[in-house]
Amino acid sequence: MPAAPAADAPGGVPAALEAHVWSVPMRTRFRGIEVRDGVLVHGPAGWGEFSPFWDYDVAESRRWWASAHEAAVLGWPDPVRSSVPVNVTVPAVGPEQAHAIVRASGCRTAKVKVAEPGQSPAEDVARVEAVRDALGPTGAVRVDANAAWDVDTAVVRLRELDRFGLEYAEQPCPTIEDLAALRRRVDVRIAADEVVRRAVDPRRVALAEAADVVVLKVQPLGGVRAALEVAEAHGLPCVVSSALESSVGIAAGVALAAALPELPFACGLGTVALFTGDVTSEPLLPLDGALPVVRPVPDRLAECVADAATERRWRERLAAVLGS
Ligand SMILES: [Mg+2]
Repeated sequence: MPAAPAADAPGGVPAALEAHVWSVPMRTRFRGIEVRDGVLVHGPAGWGEFSPFWDYDVAESRRWWASAHEAAVLGWPDPVRSSVPVNVTVPAVGPEQAHAIVRASGCRTAKVKVAEPGQSPAEDVARVEAVRDALGPTGAVRVDANAAWDVDTAVVRLRELDRFGLEYAEQPCPTIEDLAALRRRVDVRIAADEVVRRAVDPRRVALAEAADVVVLKVQPLGGVRAALEVAEAHGLPCVVSSALESSVGIAAGVALAAALPELPFACGLGTVALFTGDVTSEPLLPLDGALPVVRPVPDRLAECVADAATERRWRERLAAVLGS
């Protein structure tokens, strides 16, 4: 795939960043996605990733670009730790496969997708039970419902799933008000994800009554520095999760997790394992449940070529974000 310079843009975005479109199939459909794609940019500080999901518009995608720009041009704050514990991510698969995914991962924490459209509550129970069985009593199990439940449904589902011991439930309901109402009715910790990262100002979301944990994602929050400001504004324990990036984008999440003053929970950065391939020969896959604080070089871009239509769509998208 030929490298082409990113579009020129106002506001001090360097014109000389090389942009490379990449595309990798997922092992299992996840977040409605079967193929993940995006753009890698290279600048004086290294490689950055711009890969907003396709349901993000130009305005929301600007923060994602800010993250790529930071990685390529500014670099990241110094780390305070040299490795980052991560969870294995379990998609909405059957219990046998869920068990196998957890056992193969070497991780001591698992994040389990629940409330998948088209699936039943019994399927969630079977999956969470299998994951608990695979981890044993000392492992940690967290669930992510991606805002699928109303408060009453969440109360019933979480009480049922908490029979297997939940570390926390990530974004069980859509709104701050829902999360606060739910939090008064269940004993499970609540983690805020979508309500933070899709807010106009993620630093000013009133989480005090609504959440016990904040999920930070580097690209949607506009970079490592911006995410550190969000963490500081809330003063709650933080978990850094991916937005299903390639290893280049995951490295930004690792940099954030490595720079946080405290890191009491495993992070959700083990998601390269959900891909059938990666842009680098040294993918950021967990070893003994942790990722090293490194910056992989994308030396396998030639194996992750997008088709012509995808390539064109990404270049148009990048131009729209840079030009507006
Ligand atoms: Mg989430």
